Amino acid sequence: MSEPNPAPASSTTAPLTAAAPDRPPAVEFRDVTKIYGPGTPREYVAVSHVSFTIPDVVGHGEISSFLGPSGCGKSTVLRLVAGLEPQHPPTSGSVTVLGRPVVGPGADRGMVFQDYTSFDHRTVLDNVVFGLECRGVPRWEREAEGLEWIAKVGLDPGRDARKYPHELSGGMRQRVAIARTLILRPRIILMDEPFGALDPATRLDMQDLLVKLWREVEATVLFVTHSVEEAVYLGDRVFVMATTPGRIAEEIRLPAASAPARETQSQPWFHEQVNALHARVERIEAEARRVNGAVD
Ligand code: ADP
Repeated sequence: MSEPNPAPASSTTAPLTAAAPDRPPAVEFRDVTKIYGPGTPREYVAVSHVSFTIPDVVGHGEISSFLGPSGCGKSTVLRLVAGLEPQHPPTSGSVTVLGRPVVGPGADRGMVFQDYTSFDHRTVLDNVVFGLECRGVPRWEREAEGLEWIAKVGLDPGRDARKYPHELSGGMRQRVAIARTLILRPRIILMDEPFGALDPATRLDMQDLLVKLWREVEATVLFVTHSVEEAVYLGDRVFVMATTPGRIAEEIRLPAASAPARETQSQPWFHEQVNALHARVERIEAEARRVNGAVD
């Protein structure tokens, strides 16, 4: 569960619309290796020599997708950015966010998980305003802001705000999780397969919602997914990961999402991109199996 940090989120007023050369990157990995249980019989190299740079595009932000098979280290990478243990700290290498080394969780980063991580005993509104409560924001102010965010994520402030999580569908609960994270205005949004448990139609609705909110909050999004379609639709860039050890095999630039998910995903050019990326992913996985001596 994302535990909000009581410190205020950092902000910028610079009226820039592109990555300025003197701005530190939003996220940078330099030669990062993470070994779980080092020196024990269970020692396991989860990710090895991972390096990448995601620029801080002020006034816009970017969505980067991390795509790859189970176990290739996608969650490990995301949780290293979040500063969450036991992934943090890396065994070697450096992880920086907005030019500063990650030393733990912080208000500049917010996380949304696949499993619905609301507090069961709190209403929707109390879940959404939880982080503001931790920051000491007065009740009237946080509730007004909470109701605004409930509407922004497509829930009904009148009907849904007083419900409890068990009264909501999976899609509605993920809307609550998104509102609870974005209300804190993090500069970096970390999403670990947030739509993986949703049905295909709800998933498309949630992709549209993410793109709409991302445009509004102008944050940098790191998005872990198994779905090539989702990666192509959402990603300004896609990091294709491979296993054993987990690593980044390829970085691909793509056009940003500019039309609704259903419209885009029915276009022939979209299917071509998806097929091309599927083929690349398959090649990368076959190569990993060959190097690791596995039989197809
Ligand atoms: P992905 O998100 O791509 O499925 P993960 O980052 O969750 O991959 O895990 C990468 C590898 O590290 C997997 O083989 C997983 O079993 C292992 N792993 C993850 N967390 C731990 C942990 N806390 N202790 C030991 N091994 C772990």
